[in-house]
Amino acid sequence: MIVRLLLLGGILYLFFTVRRLFREARRTGHLYDDGPARIDDVMVQDPVCGTYIPKKDGIRVVAGGREVYFCSEDCRKKFLEEN
Ligand SMILES: [Zn+2]
Repeated sequence: MIVRLLLLGGILYLFFTVRRLFREARRTGHLYDDGPARIDDVMVQDPVCGTYIPKKDGIRVVAGGREVYFCSEDCRKKFLEEN
C-alpha cells in the first residue's frame, strides 16, 4: 500500500515537473517562437551567391552604410574584393 502511494506521488511529481517545464519553455520562447526572439529569424539574402540565410547565422558586414550578410566566409571575401 505504501509502495503504491509512493508510486502515485512520484507520478504526480513528474507530471507537475514536466508541466512546469513546458510552461517555462513556452514563456521563454524555447518551444514556441512567439516572443521578441522572432526578430532573430529574419531571412536575409547573401548578395554574392543569392542564398537566403537566417540573419543570426549570417556573417555581418557593414559596407557603405548598409548591412549585408553572407552565408560563408568565402562570400564575404568575394564581396569585399569586388567592392
Ligand atoms: Zn553565399
